[in-house]
Amino acid sequence: MADQNWRNQPRRMSEAIADKVALRIGEHAMTHDLTEVDVILHGGEPLLAGPEFIAYLVRAIRRQMDTGSRVNVSVQTNGMRLDDEFLKLFEKLGIRVGISFDGYAEAHDRHRLFRDGRGSHDQVAEAIQRLSAGRYHSLFGGLLCTIDVRNDPLRVYEALLAFDPPSVDFLLPHGNWSTLPPFRDAESTTTPYADWLIPIFDRWYGRAETEIRLFTEILRLLSGHGSRSESIGLSPALLAVVETDGSIEQSDILKSAYHGAAATSLHVLRDPFDAALRLPSLVARQIGVEALSPTCRACDVVAVCGGGLYAHRYDDESGFRNPSVYCADLYALIRHIHRVFAEDLIRMRGHR
Ligand code: SF4
Repeated sequence: MADQNWRNQPRRMSEAIADKVALRIGEHAMTHDLTEVDVILHGGEPLLAGPEFIAYLVRAIRRQMDTGSRVNVSVQTNGMRLDDEFLKLFEKLGIRVGISFDGYAEAHDRHRLFRDGRGSHDQVAEAIQRLSAGRYHSLFGGLLCTIDVRNDPLRVYEALLAFDPPSVDFLLPHGNWSTLPPFRDAESTTTPYADWLIPIFDRWYGRAETEIRLFTEILRLLSGHGSRSESIGLSPALLAVVETDGSIEQSDILKSAYHGAAATSLHVLRDPFDAALRLPSLVARQIGVEALSPTCRACDVVAVCGGGLYAHRYDDESGFRNPSVYCADLYALIRHIHRVFAEDLIRMRGHR
């Protein structure tokens, strides 16, 4: 990613910072009378922090919830270290596990390699098997798949489905108008990412094989509901990131834009999470359509698309007030889903 701040971060959070993070989360839950808080442990690779530290942090957070708020903890891992010790701990603490997995062996091993160049597919598949089969299945949060349009979409989808995941997230690769995503040409009207996703939507729609977050959110938005994801829709940004040194940052997907893009001046030792809501960069993520470019505001699918993921709108010269670099793909995908959904509604009405 463009941001290299991770090089200056401690490899693991200290227990003193973990205690303060827990206190800040508890304080936030109490101030806003929250019934639930979602805590996501991610990295890098969060399992590198070790089982003792993960247990320490999660217990510290739950201890601060004397208001009775429920703490839903999940971990997003590459699966390489997901052994029995971790699984037993996650079962004990009720931590749900999401695994990054890009599909069949050739697809997954294009990008996810060991240092010696060997692919990690077989080991990750074993980890998913350990999680998805038998007693740990209830901990299985889902699979996160980054799209590479060179891979066969239906083969990828079927490779994910083989593990019976409760949910699947397809991620568009990081990119923006200054650093274009792979196979996306700034001038071209081609839609390689929509062309990749549409066959999966057509295969998925109407069957209850798994939840595909991107499609479910588009269907929710088409039905007039708000979005629950920052990838699509106009809902305000809902998460804050705490780095290992205790700095409070914005969503780290922003780190793909430029060095320091996610940084704020806030720190858990000094500031409550509410202080983030007064930062102009955060306000821009809370005001919906007002923050969008004129092109997006005039777009007929803006209520669904919302300009796509904030980081994908970035341009070195004009900042974030642009359509998504995936504009053509998002438009084609949303129009397709809208067409299928509308035809379905008309058919259902005819059967009444
Ligand atoms: S489809 Fe393009 S123009 Fe329309 S809202 Fe999305 S990014 Fe903006």
